[in-house]
Amino acid sequence: MNKEIICIVCPLGCRMDVELDGTEVMAVQGHQCKKGPKHAEKEVSFPGRILTTTIKTDVPEMPLLPIRSNQEIPKDQLMACMKEIAGHPVKRPVKLGEPIIQNILGLGVDMVACRTMQ
Ligand code: SF4
Repeated sequence: MNKEIICIVCPLGCRMDVELDGTEVMAVQGHQCKKGPKHAEKEVSFPGRILTTTIKTDVPEMPLLPIRSNQEIPKDQLMACMKEIAGHPVKRPVKLGEPIIQNILGLGVDMVACRTMQ
């Protein structure tokens, strides 16, 4: 079976034709560097993304605080994480890098602040 996977490691976004045997990558074409096949293997075995978003605050001057996951989250859990984040407005103060939501959805991933909020 062949599958098209777009490499997201750099802005070039190579479109790769990936030959699969089940979940094993047999061959990759269309990449411009060795990072492409590595990304294809990861995408097949553990498709995950760093989740970058914002969370509501109780601070009128900064109604939204940027946050991100400290590890990749499985792609099929991203929407559930967004719903969980929407239900957790954050109160000040917050320091850069501080965990805002720990172990979100039991995934072992923390959502951390990308800015300090006094
Ligand atoms: S294969 Fe290499 S050049 Fe192409 S998008 Fe991935 S990292 Fe960039």
